[in-house]
Amino acid sequence: MKKPATRKTKPAKSQELNPDAPRCGLCGKKGKLVRTECCGQWICDDEDNYVLFSYARNSCHRNHRRYTLCGFHHGEGHPGDWQTCPKCRESFPAEIYVSYGTNEYNFVTLENPPTYEPTHCGACGVVIKLSDGGYSQGPKGILCEKCTRKVFPISKLD
Ligand SMILES: [Zn+2]
Ligand SMILES: [Zn+2]
Ligand SMILES: [Zn+2]
Ligand SMILES: [Zn+2]
Repeated sequence: MKKPATRKTKPAKSQELNPDAPRCGLCGKKGKLVRTECCGQWICDDEDNYVLFSYARNSCHRNHRRYTLCGFHHGEGHPGDWQTCPKCRESFPAEIYVSYGTNEYNFVTLENPPTYEPTHCGACGVVIKLSDGGYSQGPKGILCEKCTRKVFPISKLD
């Protein structure tokens, strides 16, 4: 059996920015923009809109700073590129690392994200997305939200 020797070539991205009218690299809006400290990209200057403790993810600037490896890498003062930074890789479980490196808050995403085994609930076996939260860790391993409620019926997750 011969393996098919087809190589996927990436489609050329058409990201031509009009130099006269910069847009936010994440949401595409024009208007009040700043360059990110970490990677020098145009982004909405919208952190003022963020309501403290609301956990809303409506700020481009904040999302990039808080939920990407680029922002983390810069904030921690790591040397070199975040894409190849061993410190960033060590700082998160693979699943979170991949999420932070490929989510929609990135301008550039990880080219070769590491593969990882999905996390399964220790009781019912359902796949748990760590980046979404809503799970618990205990003696039985990681439990999904449903099973956590069964084990701790009085605990409030929400
Ligand atoms: Zn934006
Ligand atoms: Zn950045
Ligand atoms: Zn780093
Ligand atoms: Zn479960």
